[in-house]
Amino acid sequence: MKKVLLIKFGELFLKGRNRHDFISRLKKNIAQKLRQFPCKLEETQGRLILSDYAEADEGIILAKLQQVFGLIGVADAVEFDTSLQEIEKQVCDLDFGGVRTFRIESKRADKNFPLTSMDLDKHLGGAVLEKWPSLKVDLYEPQMTAFVEVRTNGKTYVYSKLHPCVGGLPLGSGGKGLLLLSGGIDSPVAGWMMAKRGLEIEAVHFHSYPYTSPQAKEKVIELAKEISSYCGKIRLHIVSFTEIQEQIHKNCDEEYMITIMRRIMMRIAERLAVANNAGAIITGESLGQVASQTMQSMNVTNSVVSLPVFRPLIAFDKEEIMGIARKIGTYETSILPYEDCCTVFLPKNPVIKPTIKRAEFLEKSLDIEGLVQTALNNEEILDIDEF
Ligand code: ATP
Ligand code: MG
Repeated sequence: MKKVLLIKFGELFLKGRNRHDFISRLKKNIAQKLRQFPCKLEETQGRLILSDYAEADEGIILAKLQQVFGLIGVADAVEFDTSLQEIEKQVCDLDFGGVRTFRIESKRADKNFPLTSMDLDKHLGGAVLEKWPSLKVDLYEPQMTAFVEVRTNGKTYVYSKLHPCVGGLPLGSGGKGLLLLSGGIDSPVAGWMMAKRGLEIEAVHFHSYPYTSPQAKEKVIELAKEISSYCGKIRLHIVSFTEIQEQIHKNCDEEYMITIMRRIMMRIAERLAVANNAGAIITGESLGQVASQTMQSMNVTNSVVSLPVFRPLIAFDKEEIMGIARKIGTYETSILPYEDCCTVFLPKNPVIKPTIKRAEFLEKSLDIEGLVQTALNNEEILDIDEF
């Protein structure tokens, strides 16, 4: 008998080649995440089994696995050679202390095993009741469930604790997205959500130094590190927006300032995306949250790019976004009080329903191509890897 971690992954509808890619990517990502820990990772019929790690590392390994997209749960299990006698012993040895009701949930993947799953449930239920006579079976709301998996590799796994993971798809299985990362609450969550659907993340941050402080930039680097523990390596492009903002401020209608800023951010983001093989742009916008996030505003900013723009938070309330930010550990950093470039020269009454025509007209007074090029020529690049 040995202690192992039994890893369950989701997206079970995947078939054929997709399934193979999914699992091999998942294994690669897990191996990368656990690179400091000697251990063995094997696949058996829709499960991954992690074994031969130092027992003292189990807690930290578990925490790391909970940051790997594509996993739905990890169980502390015991593994042993399949025999009815040993299954009975291991199930009865589970700690039922302090529990009043239980159920057995068996899965017989090995059809050579003589008992069906249901027969095994009944048999083991009886054995447990004999050893723990004060217990009662409750099939609907048991306080504890004993899981038994008889698998085709000749091994059986028994466990009672399943630690939930975040689900999603393995990092990198969906290509790459270019995230517009501000220092706020929303964009780190948006990046995390798209990475959860399998996208690798590359990011761009615009700063307006010296109007914004060096700490504002540090804060964004910190946020990139925080999401990198889930999202893997992130190349962060740090781009100065100062000159662009000054030019807009000088030449354009105040109420259109944010609209035009956003359109230039989008253009720069698209150039970076194309140059770095990203197939989409990601923002943290949520419909109606502020004036620049109305349907009309988003239409006017979208119209300058041809790549798809993913806005995973579009239908989320601020409370829901904050809940995710807390869960993934970015909230405390996001609420640090450093200014964002969008708050410099902030117009009193930003337009709520901008039009493409008006934006294009106002942009005639700017050398957009020159501004975009200068900003890109002076970018700073940081490679972040906290995975
Ligand atoms: P966040 O919490 O992500 O800052 P927000 O609610 O403050 O979002 P806005 O300031 O309207 O919203 O920004 C909308 C989106 O534009 C952000 O989610 C982000 O994707 C992008 N963005 C805004 N400012 C910057 C910036 N300085 N650098 C990069 N992207 C930015
Ligand atoms: Mg913001």
